[in-house]
Amino acid sequence: MNINLSEKKILVTGGAGFIGSNLCEALLEKNNKVFCLDNFATGKKENIEHLLSNSNFTLIEGDIRKIEDCQKAVEGVDYVLHQAALGSVPRSIKDPITSNDVNVGGFLNMLVVSRDSGVKRFVYAASSSTYGDSESLPKVEDKIGKPLSPYAITKYVNELYADVFSKTYGLETIGLRYFNVFGRKQDPNGAYAAVIPKFVGQFMKGESPTINGDGNYSRDFTYIDNVIQANMLSLVADNPKAINTVYNVAYGDRNTLNDLVGYLKENLSEFDASIAEIEVKYGPNRQGDIPHSLASVDKAKELLNYNPEYSLQEGLKEAVKWYWENL
Ligand code: NAD
Repeated sequence: MNINLSEKKILVTGGAGFIGSNLCEALLEKNNKVFCLDNFATGKKENIEHLLSNSNFTLIEGDIRKIEDCQKAVEGVDYVLHQAALGSVPRSIKDPITSNDVNVGGFLNMLVVSRDSGVKRFVYAASSSTYGDSESLPKVEDKIGKPLSPYAITKYVNELYADVFSKTYGLETIGLRYFNVFGRKQDPNGAYAAVIPKFVGQFMKGESPTINGDGNYSRDFTYIDNVIQANMLSLVADNPKAINTVYNVAYGDRNTLNDLVGYLKENLSEFDASIAEIEVKYGPNRQGDIPHSLASVDKAKELLNYNPEYSLQEGLKEAVKWYWENL
């Protein structure tokens, strides 16, 4: 998709993380000046190392919990793509205080400095976890349930703050509720790794991944390039109705965990045929997990011209190839 976005100064918070580093790369490719604020809590130097020699890229090592770091990062920028947060539902169940400090306190700091320095638009990573215990499918933006984890609370509070900042101070905001994002550079390691990179890493080592539950839970798995598209479209949107609101960012289809494992084996066995023989294990369901998730992407299609180009299977092809070459 051809999006006209160049020669802007854009701050990506969490720019050394999975989604953030992909955004930095894509924005640099379009000839923007990119500033990356990160404290490397979960992000990695190797995600951005190749960008450090680019004169349009500036790394600011800092913490969104410190207002001075946020002030420094936002100075002179046109737009903010706020990605910095502590992800993972289980992490927030284990340590709700730190998740809240970063995801709510840090978010508020970023809003305040963006307001004060005249940022033109603040686009932020919201989350499908905001749908909480609502069972209706597909998920439509204005119908949410009660949060099921501290993480989900933090992401919902972000939306409430963004809404109040747009109404009270006129700061333009757009929240993007990401649904299970996957793709190149997503970390396969650690206790809080997301399911796709974790399973790919395990299959590649010849290990059997464990599915939480019976594998019939389903998700709207969203390839990173669809997420990049949604962020760029949010920066260029000029319809007043498109601003100061939230959007689902997903592909708009759902696949079960059992389907996912089948596709992963199919793709990986092209590189190593023995992977097709690895059996998965089944464990207990995880606390805070909802059974099914599927997004309606009609609102983003209508107001942002969002047109997700990669289905799960198309995205997996790219992602698996990347992991095979880079892990
Ligand atoms: P990630 O962990 O790879 O990236 C988060 C980045 O934020 C990391 O680089 C980390 O070092 C940085 N960070 C954390 N605390 C910080 C702090 N105090 N100060 C500065 N930087 C800090 O995760 P991701 O998957 O790339 O997620 C990006 C955003 O998208 C997050 O806000 C996350 O909640 C949201 N999100 C992700 C998904 C998904 O499926 N990956 C789904 C819904 C929402």
